[in-house]
Amino acid sequence: MIKSFVNRVIASVKDPERDFSERIFLIYSIISEIAVIIALVADIILKENIGEIITLILIITLVPTITFVCLFREKVGFAIRLIVISLVFAVLPSLFFFGGGLEGGGIFWFIFAFMYVGLVISGALKTVVLVFLFLLTLACYLTAYFHPEFIVGHSRAVYFVDSFVSVILVGAVCYIMTWSQNRLFMDENARARKEAERAEELTLAQNRFFSSMSHEIRTPINSILGLNELTLRNMDATDDIVKNSTGIQGAGKLLLALINDILDFSKMEAGSMDIVPVDYHVGDLISEIVNMIWLKANDKGLKFNVSIDPKVPSVLYGDEVRLKQIMINLLNNAVKYTQEGSIDLYVESDETNDKTTVLSISISDTGMGIKKEAIPYLFDAFKRVDEEKNRQIEGTGLGLSIVKQLIELMDGTVTVNSVYGEGSTFTVTVKQGVSDSAPIGELNIHSEQMAKRSKYESSFKAPEARVLIVDDNEMNLEVEKKLLTDTESSIDTVLSGREALEKTVQVHYDVILMDHLMPKMDGIECLENIRSQTGGLNRNTPVIVLTANAGSSNMDLYNRSGFDGYLVKPVSGEALEEMLMKHISREKLIIQGKMMRMREDIDATTGYLRKAQVIITSSSMCDLPEKVTKKHNIPIIPFMIRTDKGVFKDGVQMDPN
Ligand code: ADP
Repeated sequence: MIKSFVNRVIASVKDPERDFSERIFLIYSIISEIAVIIALVADIILKENIGEIITLILIITLVPTITFVCLFREKVGFAIRLIVISLVFAVLPSLFFFGGGLEGGGIFWFIFAFMYVGLVISGALKTVVLVFLFLLTLACYLTAYFHPEFIVGHSRAVYFVDSFVSVILVGAVCYIMTWSQNRLFMDENARARKEAERAEELTLAQNRFFSSMSHEIRTPINSILGLNELTLRNMDATDDIVKNSTGIQGAGKLLLALINDILDFSKMEAGSMDIVPVDYHVGDLISEIVNMIWLKANDKGLKFNVSIDPKVPSVLYGDEVRLKQIMINLLNNAVKYTQEGSIDLYVESDETNDKTTVLSISISDTGMGIKKEAIPYLFDAFKRVDEEKNRQIEGTGLGLSIVKQLIELMDGTVTVNSVYGEGSTFTVTVKQGVSDSAPIGELNIHSEQMAKRSKYESSFKAPEARVLIVDDNEMNLEVEKKLLTDTESSIDTVLSGREALEKTVQVHYDVILMDHLMPKMDGIECLENIRSQTGGLNRNTPVIVLTANAGSSNMDLYNRSGFDGYLVKPVSGEALEEMLMKHISREKLIIQGKMMRMREDIDATTGYLRKAQVIITSSSMCDLPEKVTKKHNIPIIPFMIRTDKGVFKDGVQMDPN
């Protein structure tokens, strides 16, 4: 019985789920029980007043009984209140009056009572009990002063011994209480630290899971969409095959968008979505988005008007990937929920200073609009409003919820203004750092309209160029190689970093496309080895990471690792060509007619950034730090010399082929 009581008390004291003040109460009960037993023994030896002895016996028997019963019934809070009230109204006055008043040991237990009440009781009751305790103390002192006859007196010797025993006991109890409370705090702290570490580990594991999920899914979609693109390029394909392939393409892209949304949403739920700021060119960002949306708007017969404030600083600092995601989401919705009329995109910047600017992006449509009563729920996850009307329009109801959460992470705002049946305007404002305050100027955007089912023509041909693709996935290698066949470049493919390093000492490549996650040697390690390879012919060759690891944190990692470009799988033939065109030297490039033809005006605001190209030769490169040439994308004509020993480019001997 006693053993089970002790075990139960110890288990309850150690139970982290239990309220902290309850645990403290249990410890104090044990300590005071021991102290009171000692006091009782002393009282018996001293032949103290029977009233005091009875009080102590009552404490010794009642306190553990009440505690045990209440602990058993999980009503420790009740035990605390009962014991404290009996302490204040019964125990203290009886110890005072039977134990010699001010000339006895009882008065020291008043100090103990103040400490006890302060530590075990919480809330409003604490104040009430402390006030009562104060009044009780005052009453005892006043009674002792005005009516000393109510006090049972002591002999002088007993008074000294009683007082001494009480001081030592109360002192010891206070010391042990403070010590045990400290100990409990330390244990709690250690536990909290461990929990925090566990939570961090869990978040890391979740992050790893999300990025590996994204990676695992993107890799096969890369093959599906790539192979499908090849089918679509095939002029011998029957109409039926083309129709099916177009279906696969649409479904593949939708699947990708869905996976991205779900992954993003779970990431946000887990609180592991981070904003990763990088320097980005506003012009490039807008061009890319406009090109993408223009195609969709055009397919639906909608007009797409773009208006960009020329004062917007040209290079900003912020999470480019997430900002793009927000804009694409809102623009996609505008196209999705508009049957006729137009879509308008306005980008402005306000409050610009040397360091920051507030970017304001407004997207308007002449679509179905949103009912007033639906607006408060618009940004809720999984909520699709006006379902009756929207049934035919695909969607998960996640898009706007992701937009809102991303905007909140960026400390920005998103507002909506809509007239049902007439159209909607979504406005996003977000503060961005300014990295280059030179204004963007008149931004002209070209649309690259895909020629519909005409013979596929690559944007360039480069029969003299050599490209190496490194990827551990054979199917992906095949797809990427085939997507580039029309460029007539010589393409080598290897399945590992080790094989890549064998190649890079034999052949000089114009561009290397490198997968990131590969077994044994990953893309980053392989890049480092290529850059420092003894006898390597590709120490200065542009290396582009071609990865299934999406997300701006990865983009930042690749930038820091020294890659010259970044392509995310699934990659289209067009994106591959565009990237190669940026890096293959001009004398090897034959720009195709398609590239020229496909630049068509949108609302008289067409054309990429109209900037004078700066070209310098590599012999003068030493004047400019590499960072500058990279940042401003200044093409460098390699310094070539021919000797009887062969051709040397920037001091590296070229492959005679
Ligand atoms: P969904 O995947 O359904 O498009 P969103 O979260 O992007 O999910 O949008 C939520 C709902 O808001 C949509 O179902 C639609 O009813 C409404 N909505 C969003 N954008 C527009 C818009 N531009 N015009 C009209 N309704 C819109």
